[in-house]
Amino acid sequence: MDNPIFSTPDLTTFVRLDTLDLTCIGQHITAHKAVLKCRPNTADDWCRRCGGHGDIRDTGLRRLAHEPFGHRPTTLHIRLRRYKCIECGHVWRQDTTTAAPARAKISRAGLDWALRALVVDHDTMSVIAKKLAVSWHTANSAVLAEGHRLLINDPNRFDGVSVIGVDEHVWRHTRRGDKYVTVIIDLTPISQGTGPARLLDMVPGRSKQVFKQWLASRPKDWRDGIEVVAMDGFSGFKTAAAEELPDAVEVMDPFHVVKLAGDALDDVRRRVQ
Ligand SMILES: [Zn+2]
Repeated sequence: MDNPIFSTPDLTTFVRLDTLDLTCIGQHITAHKAVLKCRPNTADDWCRRCGGHGDIRDTGLRRLAHEPFGHRPTTLHIRLRRYKCIECGHVWRQDTTTAAPARAKISRAGLDWALRALVVDHDTMSVIAKKLAVSWHTANSAVLAEGHRLLINDPNRFDGVSVIGVDEHVWRHTRRGDKYVTVIIDLTPISQGTGPARLLDMVPGRSKQVFKQWLASRPKDWRDGIEVVAMDGFSGFKTAAAEELPDAVEVMDPFHVVKLAGDALDDVRRRVQ
């Protein structure tokens, strides 16, 4: 991009509020946080109960944690209209489910950022919560639910998988020690140069047994299709892979595999063997 085409600077698109059907109408920036005032783009002035028209009654505020920018938590203050139906008297708040599901405290873009921070950047949940300026429990329950939603919505995610990565993440630091989650990633698209890695599963715990049970629960023909397992140095994963996937090659560094593409995979396989 030596000669990019520039458009007018615009906070709404820069912080991806357009994907949430919001427009930024104000900013409050300090050294430690950014608060963005915004409003929904879409009016919501028809009564869902009787189909009558609603008059604007007053405005309310919905706060959402959003993707942080520049190590500064970013919070959205959404100005919402409250309507009252002129036919039946029903009162409702302007719909903002494009920005975040009802009762959620983190925007969809913020949640997307959080899941990537966990899986790709290895941030702990404590760090993610701090960067979002929400409580640990808020971040933890939202990110877990989002991970499962993405997994459940893709029932074909196990199809055509031949390279997997297994990795443990510190889920939470506690006084009695760290809690872990085991993350299993499909690295097949990277090894074939066809796309990015995909999240296959997240299993609470970090032990040989966790990964072994997960592998054993997969159908045999799926296990037979796995050619390479990439993992970090945790020896429990290596033992589990050796027991459940005797024909697969183990590579001891997922980032190593992530950098590989196409034919390079065969070279690694030869070297490892
Ligand atoms: Zn009505």
